[in-house]
Amino acid sequence: MNSLLDYSFQEISDILKQYGQPSYRATQLYDAIYSYKGEDKITNIPKSLISSLSQNYNFLPLTIYKELKGSDGTIKFLYKLADGNLIEGVLMRYKYGYTLCVSTQVGCRMGCKFCASTLNGLVRNLSAGEIVAQVLCVNAYLNGSRQNRKITNVVLMGSGEPLDNFDNVLKFIKLISDEHGINISQRNISLSTCGLVDKIDLLAKQKLQITLTISLHAPNDNLRRQTMPIANRYSVKDVVNCAKRYFKETKRRIVFEYALIDGQNDSFKCADELASLLHGFSNHVNLIPLNEVKERGLKGTNKHQGYAFMERLKSKGISATMRRTMGEDIEGACGQLRAKVINITQ
Ligand code: SAH
Repeated sequence: MNSLLDYSFQEISDILKQYGQPSYRATQLYDAIYSYKGEDKITNIPKSLISSLSQNYNFLPLTIYKELKGSDGTIKFLYKLADGNLIEGVLMRYKYGYTLCVSTQVGCRMGCKFCASTLNGLVRNLSAGEIVAQVLCVNAYLNGSRQNRKITNVVLMGSGEPLDNFDNVLKFIKLISDEHGINISQRNISLSTCGLVDKIDLLAKQKLQITLTISLHAPNDNLRRQTMPIANRYSVKDVVNCAKRYFKETKRRIVFEYALIDGQNDSFKCADELASLLHGFSNHVNLIPLNEVKERGLKGTNKHQGYAFMERLKSKGISATMRRTMGEDIEGACGQLRAKVINITQ
């Protein structure tokens, strides 16, 4: 069953017309569904209309199944979808507001060795409404509403490869940044991809204001192929050239994610190679010590070496920062909590 959150304001207006409703109902219904209340708590719409709509459409495509609070204030959510599948999200509190990390697929088929999301492969894509629902559900959890939004930023960095679910993700970005809905500025949205070159080119044509983040994690093909199967399809050069095209088209600075893996990609030689690869166009490197995934036997670089790597990049003129690791004590990295709960419940 589709969710009402799968639809744009215009589409909701069209649906309501089929139910013989006056046009002002669309605003009322949009307001109700974006407040993320269940059917029984909606008071601004006739009960009979709600009950006919609920025969064909889902109002709440997911609910919070489990939450874990980290010592740094980070909250990890496990949501249950209408079909019983579980997905996860992470809420991070910063000085300027709340950032929510959303999932785009149940599982993932990209197969990156360090990522727990991919351990059981891809189960299915999420619909646009199921991605919107994560934001609305947590906004409601924070006592926010459509008009009084608590979530300021959204990152598509949860489970899944966003560009492997291209149409739904594109629709999600349009829905979540629509002023009829919750109106999150596209500049406050980051989409992270393992680097599907053809899809990045397609995304560039949409002329969105979002930040594109590319998970590079290695400065050459040899190393990248050891952890990321996608590196067999696209070379590091293909990815960087495509990032340059994206920048040219959108004028948005590209962010490269680089997870520092102990003894694998964290040497000065790697830093130098990365610096020459990224030299000469507008980008930024986001370093993050790998969150250990025991199943894979890979460890994060220690703090000292991580900062030395960052300084080395900077000395070569590359803009770089070390991302604070958040939620380490609550299985903060992609797919870790879901993997754990599935293992427990299976
Ligand atoms: N599929 C997308 C988005 C999901 S992952 C992508 O590949 O970008 C979001 C980020 O977390 C990616 O940069 C991913 O490589 C990284 N990541 C996954 N597992 C991690 C781990 N164990 N430690 C640190 N970063 C990790």
